[in-house]
Amino acid sequence: MTDTTQSLDALPLRDDLRGRSPYGAPMIDVPVTLNVNENTHPMPQEVVEAITREVAQVAVTLNRYPDREFDTLRAELSAYLGHGLTPDQVWAANGSNEILQQIMQVFGGPGRSVMSFVPTYSMYPLLADGTNTAFIAGRRAADYSLSAESAVEQIQQHSPTIVILCSPNNPTGTGLGLDVIEAVYDAVSTYNGIVVVDEAYAEFAQDRTQTALTLLPGRRNLIVTRTMSKAFALAGARLGYFAADPLIADAVRLVRLPYHLSAVTQATAIAALRHRTELLGNVDDIRSQRDRIVNRLRELGLTPAVSDSNFVFFGGLKDEKAAWNYLLERGVLVRDNGIPGFLRVTAGTEAETSAFLEHLSTYIETFEP
Ligand code: PMP
Repeated sequence: MTDTTQSLDALPLRDDLRGRSPYGAPMIDVPVTLNVNENTHPMPQEVVEAITREVAQVAVTLNRYPDREFDTLRAELSAYLGHGLTPDQVWAANGSNEILQQIMQVFGGPGRSVMSFVPTYSMYPLLADGTNTAFIAGRRAADYSLSAESAVEQIQQHSPTIVILCSPNNPTGTGLGLDVIEAVYDAVSTYNGIVVVDEAYAEFAQDRTQTALTLLPGRRNLIVTRTMSKAFALAGARLGYFAADPLIADAVRLVRLPYHLSAVTQATAIAALRHRTELLGNVDDIRSQRDRIVNRLRELGLTPAVSDSNFVFFGGLKDEKAAWNYLLERGVLVRDNGIPGFLRVTAGTEAETSAFLEHLSTYIETFEP
């Protein structure tokens, strides 16, 4: 990337984008990469072979545009989600980032706003900027929790067109009670707003029955987004999706690009879904590595948040930048979300998790006893 501040000023950039920075989690080639919440377990060989076979089959059809309605993929996704969902309630795009962008394109825009409760996923304000939607940063309690009462009060104050609830929340990792989602929905319904529950990490939750999918019946303006980037270990394939009323899927058809999901993407996702037992087989190990991190960090006197995800957000560091650098110098990349005293680490394989814990223990014992 060039020195953007200098070069972008010379361009006829939209005024509202001047001075903005792009999404920028560092991409550094190190042995232990635990900074973007990927599934770091190796892809099972049989799944690699199944994807290869499925992609080989579509390769001969690549002279044609793909299935614009991705019927087979929507059927596979609705079968995976269960909860009585039908294919017409499911929509997919290139990552849940594109899903969120489409939602903001169709329901946001000039004169409209989107509210989320910070700290939360850093892409929400960027997607708001890109779609010229005002971003309203709602507040959380000092321990980063969000009560129904506080969320509703803030919504009543601002009446945002769209509310995004990230559950489990990134970067804190903690899931939101369904009572909060119900209360937010009721508040937003008074003016026909939209509620998005971003469940990118749902498969890692302590209690997997606590999903907003159970709230969909009778709630036309509720959208639950998911991704294959995390539990399904398919970040590189770019496949995100949502479940909602069929009318919501019809609405995003107004803004999606024609044939936005390539035939290769569809084939890859279909093969992965058909082999979900093998792929999701690593989820339990990731959850136990996560719990191991939480326990060890507590022993070290740090304050890890309750995690329903594949990462742990922990505070109690005197100098998080020094800790981040110390780990990086030893080949372990974690995430600094810019919150003083806190870092975030993805639960890796057993060996990766051990490397992180050993180096962090030494750092604490040496520099922050
Ligand atoms: N939502 C949340 C909360 C995330 O953390 C991420 C990825 N870090 C995404 C959405 C986007 O994921 P993807 O576009 O890969 O589906």
